[in-house]
Amino acid sequence: MAFREFAWGGDGEGSSYVTHGEVQQYLEDYANEFHLTDNIRFGCLVNNLKVLSDYDGDCRAMKVEKDEIDGEPWPKISLEWTDRTTNQSCQQTFDGVSICNGHYALPSRPPLLGLEGFPGRVIHAVEYDDPNDFAGRTVLCVGARASGGDIAREVGSVANRVYLSDSTCDRREEFGNVIRMPRTRSIGSNGEVHFSNGNGDEWTADDVDVIILCSGYDYSFPFITEGSNLELKSIPSERRVRPLYEQLWHARHPSLSFIGLPHSVVPFPLFEIQSDAVVSQWTSKAGSIPLPPPSERMAAAERDATAGGPALPGRVLDTHYLGSFQWDYCRKLARIGGTYDDSMENFIATNEAMYDRSQMERTGMAPGERDLYRETRFRRLDEQRSFEILYSEIDPSKLTLP
Ligand SMILES: Cc1cc2nc3c(=O)[nH]c(=O)nc-3n(C[C@H](O)[C@H](O)[C@H](O)COP(=O)(O)OP(=O)(O)OC[C@H]3O[C@@H](n4cnc5c(N)ncnc54)[C@H](O)[C@@H]3O)c2cc1C
Repeated sequence: MAFREFAWGGDGEGSSYVTHGEVQQYLEDYANEFHLTDNIRFGCLVNNLKVLSDYDGDCRAMKVEKDEIDGEPWPKISLEWTDRTTNQSCQQTFDGVSICNGHYALPSRPPLLGLEGFPGRVIHAVEYDDPNDFAGRTVLCVGARASGGDIAREVGSVANRVYLSDSTCDRREEFGNVIRMPRTRSIGSNGEVHFSNGNGDEWTADDVDVIILCSGYDYSFPFITEGSNLELKSIPSERRVRPLYEQLWHARHPSLSFIGLPHSVVPFPLFEIQSDAVVSQWTSKAGSIPLPPPSERMAAAERDATAGGPALPGRVLDTHYLGSFQWDYCRKLARIGGTYDDSMENFIATNEAMYDRSQMERTGMAPGERDLYRETRFRRLDEQRSFEILYSEIDPSKLTLP
């Protein structure tokens, strides 16, 4: 799903599940349309960020530069970076900084008892490239969300057998050569893998050759250090960043924002609405809602971080998981950003309807089955907050609620 301000421009002839090459072309077209490349410094690596204020209010020892927004000081932020084309170090001070460094680069590895002694090959999904590397092997995918599900399907077409293990699965279930298993509990001294559900049932697989950890990614901000003058916690394996207001603004210093942290979302539309909300605060845009005072933002951030986030309360690891909560999140941010109107509601509701349909098509599929849903062609009907299906190979009786 595309940005609201730049339609995909598809002719409805091809599948709605586009290739990465098509996405790259779309992003390049977008950048050209809005003349963005002139304003981007490519090949620059930010290696230091510093907030030019002391949040305890003791600014005497520091050079403080700050703007007032609604009576609250918003500190300026200094960045240092290396221009890798010239190898020059650069520094500049900004009124506001958005961190958009992505979160699909640093693998998160589950603490699996006995994994280090596993005699076969162990990789993380980030290293996965070609299913043919696993032809004839028996593969265990640890984790069955987006990466695990996709990799199991691809590898299943050439592997001898694939175990697809997830903590949300409570029994062993076979789908051809792909076998769904409950949580991977531990690895024994001979490489045998033990699985168990929460009800005391246990299973063992003694034929695993390769383990692929499909256990997600950690957030990482190597340019934020002790010297950044900023309270920010992002502990590897916890997969949460704090203190954040609405998963977007640094709760104490909202001149610093983090675009794109939520996961299990439709990224482009959500990031666009986040960006509008951030800019609305920088510019005090007419119709936008000013952020509440720092004490309220910090309290909300603490609630979010300790409750496990808005969508799945109780699981800290899922603090930034939004899933079906993403639509109300978009509405809320659009209201803050002053962009919420009928047209925005049409956009969000149409995205939601298409996302739900796509989820139903995918949920109804067995692991190992051909990805029929990828053939579906949607046409947006924003005015009706709905869509039309131009072509589908999915048997409607197989549509299943997630
Ligand atoms: C296997 C896989 C499949 C996916 N499939 C889909 C899909 O089908 N549909 C979908 O919508 N999404 C998909 N996603 C998610 C999608 O790729 C992300 O949501 C999207 O790339 C996030 O965009 P971003 O700009 O926030 O981050 P990124 O695309 O990660 O971009 C971050 C940028 O920041 C730069 N950067 C990082 N650190 C620094 C620094 N210190 N200084 C300067 N620059 C820096 C990086 O070089 C990079 O260019 C998939 C992700 C994965 C891993």
